[in-house]
Amino acid sequence: MTKSTRDNRQWRPATQLVRGGTRRSEFDETCEALFMTSGYVYASAEEAEEAFKGERQRFVYSRFGNPTVQMFEQRLALLEGADFARGTASGMAAVFASMACFLTAGDRVVASRALFGSCHYIVTTVLPAFGIGTELIDGTSPEAWNRALSRPANCVFLETPSNPTLDIVDLAAVCALARSAGAKVVVDNVFATPLLQQPFAYGADIVVYSATKHIDGQGRTLGGAILTNDADYFETKLIPFHRNTGPAMSPFNAWLLLKGLETLDLRVSRHCDNALRVARHLEERARLGRVLYPALPSHPQHALAMAQMKAGGSIVTFDLPGGKAAAFRFLNALQLIDISNNLGDAKSLATHPATTTHQRLSPEQRAELGIDDSTVRLSIGLEDAEDLLADLDQALAAAA
Ligand SMILES: *Cc1c(COP(=O)(O)O)cnc(C)c1O
Repeated sequence: MTKSTRDNRQWRPATQLVRGGTRRSEFDETCEALFMTSGYVYASAEEAEEAFKGERQRFVYSRFGNPTVQMFEQRLALLEGADFARGTASGMAAVFASMACFLTAGDRVVASRALFGSCHYIVTTVLPAFGIGTELIDGTSPEAWNRALSRPANCVFLETPSNPTLDIVDLAAVCALARSAGAKVVVDNVFATPLLQQPFAYGADIVVYSATKHIDGQGRTLGGAILTNDADYFETKLIPFHRNTGPAMSPFNAWLLLKGLETLDLRVSRHCDNALRVARHLEERARLGRVLYPALPSHPQHALAMAQMKAGGSIVTFDLPGGKAAAFRFLNALQLIDISNNLGDAKSLATHPATTTHQRLSPEQRAELGIDDSTVRLSIGLEDAEDLLADLDQALAAAA
């Protein structure tokens, strides 16, 4: 169907992001083509038969595969250094499919409890309804991992850094324990992005993304991806599950995400520079409570964070003295930064986790996660840092 351009696994990340996975059609277009089609036609009945028997490699239906989606999958796989990738309609479709495709009734999942809200719902509500038990633990505690993985488990699920308190899980240590417990490790690498942290290098089996966040990073579309080097998992578990249950990525969204990948390196480095400036600035304001950012030496797990991440990422979380009222005064006074629960966007966004992303949890569960009514999460975007600092300063003054 299309002419291949040559992929080179040796290319460095910034090159993969622009070039990796590109397939040109007979028209020799510069930009990746958008194949907005649900189906494909066959030159003969024999060809259709061969395709369905698996004797001929070709596209048969866009729930199974699509050229634009495949370019996105290939580019992300080359970036991550993974053998296999599958695009999904959203980050949650990726998280759910990554686990549901191989877990069965009676299996045991161990997860760090600092999880994105919908991930928490999957491991505590959806999987148990199918007879899969989940144990939630404090992901920052080596003893807790040791204890939980001293008996057999089937899956470890974790997020590092976590939302919104930026807890760090020791990937190398947990992957080693998981291996001896017989568990596959699934890492939700959204906060770190593929550029700042490579979970496969520490022994992870499966990496999942919400491409909605930094990979699009411009507020346009939902998307997700599952990556692995485990051929058996990919071919005998994930592909059949994905084909038959239908969390497929739209070709249009794949096209947007391909264009998003082209600028990911530039954007992530600007996100990190801006976020570090904001974190330092907030920390210098003595009357604030804690300021959490992995690249600040005051972060409780700074050394571990910097050992497994290249930079601190785009999220800064802090506590305002004065509880919910002060936090709401601060959010309502922002003039540049928007109030929004999304993250990883070009636009800087602020959210109050206790009343939005984490409102489903009880106050006790929030306390366990280090979230209280004074906690504010900032997703730092690509604006000029001076304008961001000025907006934060005037909103802090208004909140005081
Ligand atoms: C946003 C997010 C998800 C879910 O992704 P969607 O694209 O919104 O479905 C999962 N994990 C983390 C850490 C996220 O930030």
